Amino acid sequence: MTIRFDDRVAIVTGSGAGLGRQHALLLGRRGAKVVVNDPGGSVNGIGGEHAVADRVVEEIKAEGGQAVASYASVADMKSAQSIIDTAINAFGRLDILVNNAGILRDKAFNNMDMEDFEAVMQVHLMGSVYCTKAAWPIMREQKYGRVIVTTSGSGTVGNFGQSNYGAAKMALNGFINVMRTEGAKYNIMLNAISPSARTRMTEEILPEWVLEFMRPELVSPAVAWMASEKCTVSGEIISATAGSFSRVKYIQSEGVQFDPEQPVTIEMFEDALDKIMDLSHSQPHAMSLQRLETRLRAMGKLK
Ligand code: NAD
Repeated sequence: MTIRFDDRVAIVTGSGAGLGRQHALLLGRRGAKVVVNDPGGSVNGIGGEHAVADRVVEEIKAEGGQAVASYASVADMKSAQSIIDTAINAFGRLDILVNNAGILRDKAFNNMDMEDFEAVMQVHLMGSVYCTKAAWPIMREQKYGRVIVTTSGSGTVGNFGQSNYGAAKMALNGFINVMRTEGAKYNIMLNAISPSARTRMTEEILPEWVLEFMRPELVSPAVAWMASEKCTVSGEIISATAGSFSRVKYIQSEGVQFDPEQPVTIEMFEDALDKIMDLSHSQPHAMSLQRLETRLRAMGKLK
C-alpha cells in the first residue's frame, strides 16, 4: 500500500539543498505539510540567503504540496524553538522531525581550532538535540512522533580530518539509543540515517564514477519510511547510498571471562588479547549486564 503523510506535519532541517531538499520534496509529494528549514549558508556554515529555503518551498508547492520556509539556525535553543513554532503556527501540529542540517570544518586535529570543533558539534549534535527538545513535549502530548537524526560513517568508521564531525555524528547515535527508551511509551520513534550521496559536501572529495550513482534522492525513501506510521523500529541506524540500504549495528567479540572472584592481572589481559580482539564469533553488542549474567550462570556463579 502507498505510504502517505496526509495530515502529518514535518520539519526537515537544512532542507534548502542536498539530501534535506530531497527528503522534503518526497515528504511533500506524499502529502506531508513541510517546514523547509535552512539559513542558506556556505558548506562551512558562513553567511546565509533566504532564497535557498524559499526555492524548495516553491518546488513543493509547484508539485501541489504545502510548505513554509524557516530561515532559523538549529544551532541555538531559541532559534531551534522558532523552527518548531513555525510548524505549529503554520500547520497546527508537528509529527515528524528530520534532523539533517550540517556543516563541515575539516582539518587534521593538530591544526584544528577549537572554534571549528565546537561549531560542528553545535550544528550537528546540539542542533539535533535542541530541535528534538523543542519538539518533544508536542510529540509526547499527542503520543506520536518520528525523529530522524543524520549520522555518518565518519563517526562509526572514522575519516581523517573529521574529528569534530565524527564525534558529533557518533554522539547522535548515543542520543537516539537513549531517547528511544524514553520515547517508546509515547509512540515516539527515533532512528538514524547514515547516508552517502552526491552533494556539495562530497562533490569535491569523491570520484566522478561513484558520484554518478549517488543521487541524494536515493537516500530519501529510507528517511521517509522512518518518518512514517509504518515505521516499526527505534534506535536503528540505516545506511543508504546509491540504491543500497543496510542496517548498521555494533558487534562485540566473544572475548574471555575470567573468574570474577579471583584477581585479574595485566598479564592475563595481555595473554588473552587475541581472543578479546577476535571477531569471528562476534554478536550484536548488548548491555554488559545481560552478557555478564549469561556468563556467570554458565560458570555456575549464579543460581
Ligand atoms: P548540504 O551542505 O547540501 O546540506 C546541508 C544543509 O544544512 C545546507 O543546506 C545548509 O545550509 C544547512 N545548514 C547548515 N547549517 C545549518 C544550521 N545551523 N541550521 C539549519 N540548517 C543548516 O550537505 P548534505 O550532504 O546534503 O548534508 C545533509 C546531512 O547529511 C548533513 O547532516 C551531513 O552531515 C549528512 N551526511 C551527508 C553525507 C553525504 O555523503 N552527502 C554523508 C554522511 C552524512
